[in-house]
Amino acid sequence: MSISREQRLEKKRLKAEAEQAALDRYAQKFMRLAIKQARVAERKGEVPIGAVIVKDGKVVARGHNQREQKLLATAHAEILAINSACKRLGDWRLNGCDIFVTLEPCTMCAGAIANARIDRVFFGAYEKKGGACGSVHDVLSNTGLNANVTVAGGVLEAECSSLITAFFENKRNKIANSR
Ligand SMILES: [Zn+2]
Repeated sequence: MSISREQRLEKKRLKAEAEQAALDRYAQKFMRLAIKQARVAERKGEVPIGAVIVKDGKVVARGHNQREQKLLATAHAEILAINSACKRLGDWRLNGCDIFVTLEPCTMCAGAIANARIDRVFFGAYEKKGGACGSVHDVLSNTGLNANVTVAGGVLEAECSSLITAFFENKRNKIANSR
């Protein structure tokens, strides 16, 4: 007895669905840790953006936005996490690593991700004004960078974007109240 074409297609569809569900679970699990990092930034009065880098299912580095504290234009969550992962793994090549970041990376961070040879980027909220992973620029799809990075946006998007909007709302309210 041979299985029909329909049965084969159905089997294929179910397999693809199961794979997507497993990837979603993986993405959400580590995005929650990136959100924790964003909250660390928030407590320090920084714009709440967080990142984690994962290799073989384990977190190898964390980072949160520290631009104000360090007074450094480059102190974005992704850059700090990449620096820490390179140090920890003793290599500038982060092949086999995934990065999870609460906000779509900017051009600088997308460039650093490509240079570090990170495999995949999972981001939460879309950054309509300067996002470089599809919103405004699409740095990682640029073959000129010689990068082979897969991008998935919108992971826990509502939670990630409400972090940022709440932060700026609070800030506006504080300014309004101090007048
Ligand atoms: Zn950045």
